[in-house]
Amino acid sequence: MHSIRRQTIAALAAGRSFDLVVIGGGATGCGVALDAAARGFSVALLEATDFAQGTSSRATKLVHGGVRYLAQGNVSLVREALHERATLLANAPHLAQPLAFVMPAYKLWEAPFYGVGLKMYDALAGSRGLGPTEFLTASRTRELLPTVQMRGLVGGVKYWDGQFDDARVALALARTAQAKGAVVLNHCPVTALVREGGNVTGVIARDAIGGGELRIAAKCIVNATGVWVDDVRDMDRDGGTPAKPGIVAPSQGVHLIVDRAFLPGTHALLVPKTADGRVLFAVPWMGKTILGTTDTPRDDIVREPAPFHEEVEFILTEAGRYLSKTPTRADVRSVWVGLRPLVKHDGDDGENTKSLSREHTVLVGRSGLVTVTGGKWTTYRAMAEDVLAHCFDRRLLPRRAGGVTVHLPLVGAPSRASTSMTAPPGEHLYGDEASTLQALPGAERWLWRDGAGGLSEAMVRFAARHEMAQSVEDVLARRCRLLFLDAAEAARQADAVARILAEELGSGFDAAASQAAFEALAKQYQTLP
Ligand SMILES: Cc1cc2nc3c(=O)[nH]c(=O)nc-3n(C[C@H](O)[C@H](O)[C@H](O)COP(=O)(O)OP(=O)(O)OC[C@H]3O[C@@H](n4cnc5c(N)ncnc54)[C@H](O)[C@@H]3O)c2cc1C
Repeated sequence: MHSIRRQTIAALAAGRSFDLVVIGGGATGCGVALDAAARGFSVALLEATDFAQGTSSRATKLVHGGVRYLAQGNVSLVREALHERATLLANAPHLAQPLAFVMPAYKLWEAPFYGVGLKMYDALAGSRGLGPTEFLTASRTRELLPTVQMRGLVGGVKYWDGQFDDARVALALARTAQAKGAVVLNHCPVTALVREGGNVTGVIARDAIGGGELRIAAKCIVNATGVWVDDVRDMDRDGGTPAKPGIVAPSQGVHLIVDRAFLPGTHALLVPKTADGRVLFAVPWMGKTILGTTDTPRDDIVREPAPFHEEVEFILTEAGRYLSKTPTRADVRSVWVGLRPLVKHDGDDGENTKSLSREHTVLVGRSGLVTVTGGKWTTYRAMAEDVLAHCFDRRLLPRRAGGVTVHLPLVGAPSRASTSMTAPPGEHLYGDEASTLQALPGAERWLWRDGAGGLSEAMVRFAARHEMAQSVEDVLARRCRLLFLDAAEAARQADAVARILAEELGSGFDAAASQAAFEALAKQYQTLP
């Protein structure tokens, strides 16, 4: 076991009581942990598997106000998200950057209709706008989207939003919280809540790497477990009382990754209304093109949901209608699926739901358990502030002024970005930490190369020493995004990554098992139904 993990576990096992324990290390939990730590509270953040292993590594990678919500008239939500978009881009320029989108128009009314809405989007962003919305001729649309379907094209609209590396931002949030004093641990599921006199006063967690149980006391427990919030709410009940009705109705979204040749250049393509009324994106990201997504209700909540046949067909068919070359199943380099935690109804436990008008929901149970779910990646910071406001209102924590994370750069943030997020992954994603990376053994030994980027031996060492990676999957799925970009290539790197991790993590690390588990996962990311 790495010495840092050993120290972290010792800090949790020492019987110290925290102000706040956050359960779940996705966008929401990492955001809450950072906000609370930055306000000077003592915080422990526990993640069952790895940071962002759930929904937070499976987003479309957009830092956006949500043009769709504007169409629904939800102006306050869009304004807040546009504000948060600018905040994230400023605080993590190595991981989140502006991206220009082009909406091709095939009917004369489309460009003026959508253009007016997008001008409103600009107006709502105000001084935090990323660039003006522009009307395009057909030939200019083609210049910006060289592979756009030209048949029937009459023009287009260009507008600005942002894109990011979702898993690395979650990790940066957790590490920034750590730098502010939070005790942060992955591979440590919470298995039970401690209750005294009807109040929740702590958690019991299992160290999934070294074994052993941790009992951690806190004034306030935040359940930020995304689609799993109902499992934790079920832990919060007296024996004998009926189970609470669940609040989450998961809906899955599929993404297919194809080569950049399908969408060369630096502009994303947005189809606001597909044949059946859905939104479709083609987004240049890390040297590849993301196509997606879908919105399909499902009853079960699984760690690695598989796509449905119709979802894959929908994405390929619709992409083919707007691109000059139709992507086929053989062109798909990786397929990944995320579950949206949609909230279906409120709690039944005297829980107050002040945030109903917002996309996310915060519930405070009679026991004092604070549950937060829903929302979107872009608004994680505003959600964290709302969670803390609920903790203060219920007197779980003493009130302390907010807004402290608005101008708080995340770990590694340089003053400005050096390389576009559309370029293959590489050292630029480490920002100011690139010099630490280059000082490690193997900085020039590339396991996988793509243009000026790729995965070096030093990156694997950095993942183990500084980024809490504990498995081949942690490295190839979320420290480096190769699993998401090209699953077959990721499988080919599993052996080399396992060997380097064995050197870094020592005798407790089972390299063969970690490699085999990753290879099985990579197979799923290559399998289309
Ligand atoms: C297909 C899709 C595309 C999206 N695209 C975008 C986008 O482009 N832009 C955007 O802004 N938003 C987007 N979103 C929304 C965004 O991804 C989510 O709102 C966000 O990631 C939810 O984060 P979370 O932390 O609440 O959940 P999660 O990321 O799922 O985190 C919950 C964590 O809790 C952990 N956990 C569960 N049980 C326990 C336990 N007992 N103990 C400890 N830990 C536990 C899990 O392992 C998990 O890591 C998208 C969502 C989907 C599904």
